[in-house]
Amino acid sequence: MNKPTGAVISAKSSTKKSIIDFLEKAMDKGVFDAVIVPMRVPAGDSFAYVLIKDKSLFKDAFPIPPVMFVQGAKAVSSVTRLGKGNMKIAALMRPCEIRATIELAKLGQTDLENMTLISMDCPGVLPTSDFLSDPEKGMKQFDEAAKNLDDKIMRPVCQICDKSSMMAGDLHIGTLGAKKDTFFVISNSQKGNDILDKLGISLKDNIDSWHAKVKNISEEKLKKRKKAHKDLKSEIGGLDNLLDAYNQCINCHNCMRVCPVCYCRLCYFDSDNVKHPSEDYLQMAESKGSIRFLPDTIFFQMGRMMHMSLSCVSCGACEDACPVSIPVAQIFSMISDETQGLFDYVSGRSLEEPLPLVAYKEEELHEMEDAND
Ligand code: SF4
Ligand code: SF4
Ligand code: SF4
Repeated sequence: MNKPTGAVISAKSSTKKSIIDFLEKAMDKGVFDAVIVPMRVPAGDSFAYVLIKDKSLFKDAFPIPPVMFVQGAKAVSSVTRLGKGNMKIAALMRPCEIRATIELAKLGQTDLENMTLISMDCPGVLPTSDFLSDPEKGMKQFDEAAKNLDDKIMRPVCQICDKSSMMAGDLHIGTLGAKKDTFFVISNSQKGNDILDKLGISLKDNIDSWHAKVKNISEEKLKKRKKAHKDLKSEIGGLDNLLDAYNQCINCHNCMRVCPVCYCRLCYFDSDNVKHPSEDYLQMAESKGSIRFLPDTIFFQMGRMMHMSLSCVSCGACEDACPVSIPVAQIFSMISDETQGLFDYVSGRSLEEPLPLVAYKEEELHEMEDAND
C-alpha cells in the first residue's frame, strides 16, 4: 500500500465526542454491528473494554483512558478466538494493543476477517498504582499531560515508546498536528478505504502535518529508548545481575496472565511438570549446598522470554501487574528489541509480515555464524 491518506474531521464539541459520533454513525449506516471500546466503570475508579451493541451506551465510552487495566488485544481475542462470527465489529484501541492483536492473529488466536482495527495517537498510560491511589487526581493529571504532550508521569515503557502513533490496523485517528477542533482519520488498508467510502468520507486532505509531528516524536522517543535500554543492559546484563533484578519475584505469574501475547494455552510453568518430588529438591540442595524457594522463578522468566520476545509489543501490561514493582516490561522491551532486530522484525507492524520463527530465509542470522567462528 502507498503512503496512507486521510481526511480532516471537524471536532467542534470535543475530540472524544466526535470520535464517538464517528463510531455511532458507522453503526447507523450498518458499517459495524458492534464496537469494542474502553468505558469508565460506574464507580469512576477504573476502565473496562466493552462490546457495545446498544448505541445509547456510547455516552459512557472513553476512547483513550488514562490506564490500561486490560490489554485490548485480550478483549478482541476473547470475542473472535473461536472464529470470526457473523457480526462486523470495530475495536478502538491504542497502537500497542492493535499490534498485539495482529500478533495474535498470526498465532491463530484471533480472527480479523470481520474485525476493523482502529488505532489512535497515544499519549501514554499512567502506572495503574499511581492512578488507583487517587483516580480523580489521576484523571486530571493525565488530561493535562496528554494535552501538553508531556510524558513524565506516564509509565516508563510509554516514555520510550517510539510506536505510539504506529498504524498497524485499518484506520487511525490522528490528533497530532491537527488544527484546533479537528482530527484526522487515516486509512491504512483496503478495508479502511471501503469503510470511509461507505461513510462518505473522502481521503483527499493533506495530512503532512500529522506525518511530520509523528516523525518528530518517534525519533525523539527512539533516542530515549536506545539510551534507556543501554542503561538497563549495563544494570542487569549477565546472569547474576538478572537474578538480582528478579530477587523479589514472588512467582505469582501475573506478568504472564496479563500479557496479550503469552500464547501458550497451558503454561508449562503452571503445569505439574514443574512440581518435583521432595527427593529432587534434596538432591539439588545437596549438589549446590542449598536451594532457594520458589526455585523456578528465573526459569519462568527465561522461558517466557524465549517463547514470546519476538511478539512482545512493549505494552507495559506485565509491569503494571507486578505486585513487587519489578521492571518486567522494561526488561522484556529491551530483550525483544534485540531479538526482533535480529530478524528485522517489528511485532504487530503488519499482518503480512510472517512471524520470524515460521518463515525460513536463506540470508539471516549471519551474526550468529560470526559469533561461533
Ligand atoms: S506503550 Fe504506552 S505509549 Fe506506546 S502505544 Fe502503548 S500505551 Fe501508548
Ligand atoms: S511481555 Fe509485557 S510488555 Fe511485552 S507484550 Fe507481554 S505484557 Fe506487554
Ligand atoms: S508479576 Fe512480578 S512477582 Fe509476579 S511472577 Fe511476574 S515478575 Fe514475578
